[in-house]
Amino acid sequence: MELRWDPIMEQWVIVSGKRGDRPVLPQGYCPFCPGSKEVPKEGWTVLSLPNAFPALRPDPPPPDVVGDRLYRSLPSKGVCEVLIYTPRHDACLADLSMANIRAVVDLWTQRFEELGARDYVKYVFIFENKGRIIGVTLDHPHGQLYAFPFVPSTIQKELTSSRKYMKRTGSCLFCTIIEKELKERVRVVCENDDFICFLPYFTHWPYGVQVYPKRHAAALTDLTDKEKTAFASILKIVLRKFENLFGESFPYMMVLHQRPTDGKPYPHYHFHVEFYPPYREKGKIKYFASVESGSGAITFDYSPEAKAEELQNSSST
Ligand SMILES: [Zn+2]
Ligand SMILES: [Zn+2]
Ligand SMILES: [Zn+2]
Repeated sequence: MELRWDPIMEQWVIVSGKRGDRPVLPQGYCPFCPGSKEVPKEGWTVLSLPNAFPALRPDPPPPDVVGDRLYRSLPSKGVCEVLIYTPRHDACLADLSMANIRAVVDLWTQRFEELGARDYVKYVFIFENKGRIIGVTLDHPHGQLYAFPFVPSTIQKELTSSRKYMKRTGSCLFCTIIEKELKERVRVVCENDDFICFLPYFTHWPYGVQVYPKRHAAALTDLTDKEKTAFASILKIVLRKFENLFGESFPYMMVLHQRPTDGKPYPHYHFHVEFYPPYREKGKIKYFASVESGSGAITFDYSPEAKAEELQNSSST
């Protein structure tokens, strides 16, 4: 178990040999239901638990390999948690009440703040994988978080582009994109007073919507109480639209992009949520195949504007 440096792509790879041997759970048993091993019977709405098979640990063993200057290695120091959204087994985030989704937002905020304050945590990555098609084996509604001892490469890329944009123009790149999407309107899926959801002009995924606070804020901890409620509300609307458009429990990857927690200032960064739904049409999978995986170029066979329109017209109730 260790971090290995890829000197070609200049990024860390988290190697955890033992995680492959995760036990198969007995059928019908859910470790996240009230009354299971680590989960209290009652008295909770949302819950964070340590991941039973963490790729990163606060007290990692020394690396199994001895690194050198080219093949660097580091202990896998960090935190992996499971974030349970509700005691209800048969629900998904879209089904939950507004108060419950708001409790999820508060849990995200609280875990970001608490873990981000640890000196070895440079980035708190909150996410959800949903659906068997994404490889999720536990149906109970939950997300996860990885508290990394480094800033991951996708975030680094966003930090670099937004820093350059601010230096050149004096403005936030993301605020400028929001303004442009609001003006052009064609790709806006929905909005409320404080949040907007749109399918970006440059979307990589056919249904890869993004959600932003309209006010410049770099993390959940910067949001006001009213904004957090607006955030919960727009999440519910977006998820309902997906469910209604596809007429089924909709699979997705959802990631929260916040500023790093390494203590440096990030005035150019703007909090947002990105969705990567695996469908390109109902029943048809979008694969990130050779071109995407091997060259980093994205191919897109649809009109983003037409895809956005499908979501605009989908019911949010
Ligand atoms: Zn359950
Ligand atoms: Zn901004
Ligand atoms: Zn992002």
